[in-house]
Amino acid sequence: LKEALKLNSEEIKKIQEDIALKVKQSNIGAYVEQLKNEELSTSGEGIPIAIKDIINVKNWNITCCSNILQGYVSAYDATVIKNLRTAGLSPFGRANMDEFAMGSSTDTSCYGKTLNPHNPNKTAGGSSGGSAAAVAGGIAIAALGTDTGGSVRQPAAYCGVVGMKPTYGRVSRYGVTAYSSSLDQVGPITQNVEDAAILYDIISGHDPMDSTSANVDYTPVAPNLDSDKKLKIAVIDNFVDQASEPIKKGFSKAVKALEEAGHEIVHKQMLDTEKIVSTYYIVATAEASANLARFDGVRFGNRKGDGGLKDMYVQTKSQGFGDEVQKRIMLGSFVLSSGYYDAYYIKAQKVRHLIKDMYEDIFKDADLILSPVAPTTAPEFGSFKTSLEMYLSDIYTISVNLAGLPAISLPIDKDEDGMPIGLQLIGKAYDEQTMFNGALALE
Ligand code: GLN
Repeated sequence: LKEALKLNSEEIKKIQEDIALKVKQSNIGAYVEQLKNEELSTSGEGIPIAIKDIINVKNWNITCCSNILQGYVSAYDATVIKNLRTAGLSPFGRANMDEFAMGSSTDTSCYGKTLNPHNPNKTAGGSSGGSAAAVAGGIAIAALGTDTGGSVRQPAAYCGVVGMKPTYGRVSRYGVTAYSSSLDQVGPITQNVEDAAILYDIISGHDPMDSTSANVDYTPVAPNLDSDKKLKIAVIDNFVDQASEPIKKGFSKAVKALEEAGHEIVHKQMLDTEKIVSTYYIVATAEASANLARFDGVRFGNRKGDGGLKDMYVQTKSQGFGDEVQKRIMLGSFVLSSGYYDAYYIKAQKVRHLIKDMYEDIFKDADLILSPVAPTTAPEFGSFKTSLEMYLSDIYTISVNLAGLPAISLPIDKDEDGMPIGLQLIGKAYDEQTMFNGALALE
């Protein structure tokens, strides 16, 4: 990206054309539709960046990979898109994703699944699987994804690229279709750590258009990258114990490399992962059920039904939303309903605080935390028989969102089948600089 930012408009045009051609020839399904020539001309003149189909780009058909939004044309640019354009980058191609960002494999997309560029029988992860596969497959220089519970970091890990989730509030959510408003953050997916830092600097900063945007000082990280700083890095033993053998092996290798480079390792414990999963899926589905209520066929949504108001609601939602989304709306409505609110939602909020406190305690004695991103490398399609099995693959990523912390996932090694092994470094809130410095040391 650093080199690309120096190119003139002729050279950038050439890059756009090369990428458009590669996208047309590619069969990994990273984009929700093949780039058309009209799209090329409306994409702007900057360095092309692939955009997850949940981030609004003016005049684009943004659908969140759902049938309910077919035909919807975005009226404005999200703040992150405005920031890209100001920096000389341009949105280029809609990247595939799980419907409304709910999933871990990109196969709940209404457009079909995205294949992992390292092995087409395996998933590219999710929900930002299209963004990660596009970067890994060489058909995007970099991409934007969103991370509510791991959706930038996990597909990046499965595809062998870098994925970063900022501190909650660092990056504006204005113009990003909400899944779970207290957890969602936009993050870069790139080929290396330096590109992630460059793209993160471009998209972050306070935005008065987003009431949850943090009004705190911002010092760009990319010009201050320093991989020589000696750091104290915590490993969470009860997380590592639950990982598969290839992940454990990659983890030990990374710990050894860090120790040899002079960093100090300390051992810590976190809350039981089962409790973390329960907490996340209560908070996330509760917020999703409220956020997705707007897709009712009146204000938004591909209107269906001709038997009056109720029939329109029922038909629009039941034909428009896929199974996983409907399941989550029902679950979220249940935990928010009177009689169950105290038993589930309030309890989950208390556990969320506990998770935040536990991370704060760990950070009293460490600069960073090193953790797996997922228990295994990319799974084969169809290997999860139930939603719950899929939810359990999120055990290492979701607590980071519940605590609002920044984290970066980066490729460390490969397993025996050549599939990438990714690990994540978790940082203190608003201390992305230390997190990027640590990532550069591990790269
Ligand atoms: N897999 C998680 C979920 O389905 C995370 C998704 C995300 O980060 N958008 O909710």
